[in-house]
Amino acid sequence: MNLILKTLTFLVFCNVALIAQTSQRWQQEANYKMNIDVDVDKHQYKGSQTIEYTNNSPDPLNKIFYHLYFNAFQPNSMMDVRSQDISDPDRRVKSRIGRLNADEIGYIQVNSLSMDGTALNYETVGTILEVALASPILPGSTVKLEMEWDAQVPVQIRRSGRDNKEGINYSMSQWYPKLCEYDYQGWHANPYVGREFHGIWGDFDVNINIASDHIVGASGLLQAQMDKVVGGKKNWHFIAENVHDFVWAADPDYTVTQKTRADGTEMKFYFQENDKTREVWARLPDIMDKAFDYINTHFGQYPYPIYSIIQGGDGGMEYPMATLITGERGLGSLVGVSVHELMHSWYQMILGTNESLYAWMDEGFTSYATDRVMNHLKEIGALPGEPVSKENLFVNTYASYINFNASGIDEPLSTHADHFNSNAAYGVGSYVKGNIFLNQLEYIIGKENFDKGMLRYFDEWKFRHPNPNDFIRVMEKESGLELDWYKEYWVNSTRLPDYNIKGVSAEERKSTKIKLSNKGQMPMPVDLVVNFKDGSKTVYHIPLRIMRGEKPIENENDNYVVLEDWPWTHPDYEFVIPFKIKKIKSVNLDPSNRMCDMDRSNNEKLLIKN
Ligand SMILES: [Zn+2]
Repeated sequence: MNLILKTLTFLVFCNVALIAQTSQRWQQEANYKMNIDVDVDKHQYKGSQTIEYTNNSPDPLNKIFYHLYFNAFQPNSMMDVRSQDISDPDRRVKSRIGRLNADEIGYIQVNSLSMDGTALNYETVGTILEVALASPILPGSTVKLEMEWDAQVPVQIRRSGRDNKEGINYSMSQWYPKLCEYDYQGWHANPYVGREFHGIWGDFDVNINIASDHIVGASGLLQAQMDKVVGGKKNWHFIAENVHDFVWAADPDYTVTQKTRADGTEMKFYFQENDKTREVWARLPDIMDKAFDYINTHFGQYPYPIYSIIQGGDGGMEYPMATLITGERGLGSLVGVSVHELMHSWYQMILGTNESLYAWMDEGFTSYATDRVMNHLKEIGALPGEPVSKENLFVNTYASYINFNASGIDEPLSTHADHFNSNAAYGVGSYVKGNIFLNQLEYIIGKENFDKGMLRYFDEWKFRHPNPNDFIRVMEKESGLELDWYKEYWVNSTRLPDYNIKGVSAEERKSTKIKLSNKGQMPMPVDLVVNFKDGSKTVYHIPLRIMRGEKPIENENDNYVVLEDWPWTHPDYEFVIPFKIKKIKSVNLDPSNRMCDMDRSNNEKLLIKN
C-alpha cells in the first residue's frame, strides 16, 4: 500500500470509528437548582428554580412543557375522573380526589417564567404547563430557565402528599415543576393520571427550608444541614448528580440509621420508631447489605454514593437514590418492598426506560430481579423462609399470567401505561408478563448468554433511555441468535405457545418415535427430556428455525442432543430416538418450567405407572 492509500484507509477507519461512537442516541440535559421554603402550618411552599437546559437534539425547539403533578389532586382533574371511571378503581384513590376541600387539594401555581432573562408566555393545562417560546432553543445550545411558583401539598392520596396513613408529614414526590422529556420519539408531555414517569438526565441541587423540628431525607447526598434556626426554620441542602428525578420527605419523628457497605455505598434508613417498626427496621440494614451484594454481581454495580429507604408514601415507590415505602410491615414484607424499590434503581433510575411506553421494562424487570434476590436471601439464611429451586421460582408467576391471559381482558404490553382498559391489565401486563419476559428469554438463549446479556445491557445503556428493541439487540449480540420474533409476539400480542406430546410409539430397529405439536399461537424452541427406567436421561433440544441457531448446552453433565430445527409454520414435529420404548419411563416437555406454555397438562407422557 502506498502512503496516500494508507492515509485514506486510516481516515476511513477513523470515520467508521467516529460514526460508531456518535450513532449513540442523543439525549437532553437539564440541571436544576431549587430553593424551597415550606410553611408547615398551611402545608404550602414557595419555590424558585433555575434549570440549565441543553438541547442535544437535532431539532430547534419552539415550545417546551413542564409537569405540574400536584394539579392532579383536584376534583375533576384527569386523574380524578380516570380513577373513578376505570372498570376496576384503585382502592387507594377511588373518589378521594373528588372529595378534597380547597385546603386539601394540591396545586402548583406558576408565578413567573423566563428564558435567558426574557419573560415567557405560558398556560397551565391541568398537570402540564405549556410554554410557547419567543425564540427557539437551537440544537446544541444551552438556555437558562428561571421560574417562581407557589404550591400546596395535597392530602396524601397517591404516592405524594401530606399526612400519610402511617403519620409521615411530608412525602414529597412529583412535587416540583419538572421539564418534560423531549427525545428521539418527540415530546412526552403526558398528563398525570396516576401511573408512570419519564425524565431528563441531569444534576439536582436542592435547598429545603422547613420548620426546625423536621428531619429531611432525600435523593442524593446531604451537603450541609444548618444548625442555625432562622425564623423557626432550618435549611437542608442536597445534591443528586446524573439522575432524572428528585424526591424528599420530612417528619419530626424520623429515627435515622445508617450502614456503610464494604464498597463504600452509604445506606440510610428513615422511619418512625414504634412497636410495629422497631425490630424489623433494626434488621433491615444487614439484609439490604446482602441484597446489594447479589444485585451488584448479577445486574451491574450500583453507581451512586448513597441509597436511602424512607418511610412515606402509600406502599412503595422508587426514586433516584431513594425510595418511599410504608414501614409498618412484617419483616418479609418490609424486605420485599425494599428490595423491589431498590431494584428499580437499575430498572428505570439507571436504565431510564420511558415507563409510560414500556412499563413492563421497569416493573417487569424489577419484579423478576426481586424474585431472584428474595430467593437468594432465603438461600443464604438472611431471611426466614424456604428457598425454592430455580426450576420452580417462577411457576406461580407463570400460572397467574396464564390464568389472566384466559380471562379475555389481557392487553398487549405495547399499550401505553395510561391507556390500558383496566388497572388489572396494566398491573398483570407490566409486573407479571414483564417478569416472565426475562425468565422465558433465559430459556430461549440459555442461562450463560442471559446472565452476560443482563450485565451487558446495564453497561451499554446505563444513564440512557433504552427501549425494547435496544434490549433485545443486546441479547441478540450476546447470544448470536435472532430474537425479534420473541419481542414481537411477547410485547405486541397476547398470544401464548401450547406445545404438547402427541404420541410416543415403538418403531422398527429398536427405536422410538416421539410426536409433538404446537396448539398455541406462538412458536418457541423446545426442550424435552426422555427419562429411562435405569435412572438415566437424555435431553433433546429442538431449535426454532427463525432463530438461525440455538442456545448452547446449559448443563454440561447432560446427555444432550440438538435435533433438526422446527419451522414455525408447521404445527407438528416428529423425531426418532435410538432406544426401545420398553426402556423409557417418561417424556417431559419443557422440564425447566421456563416456557410460558398455556396448558402444561399435555407436556408429560408417562410410559410406566409407578
Ligand atoms: Zn415497582
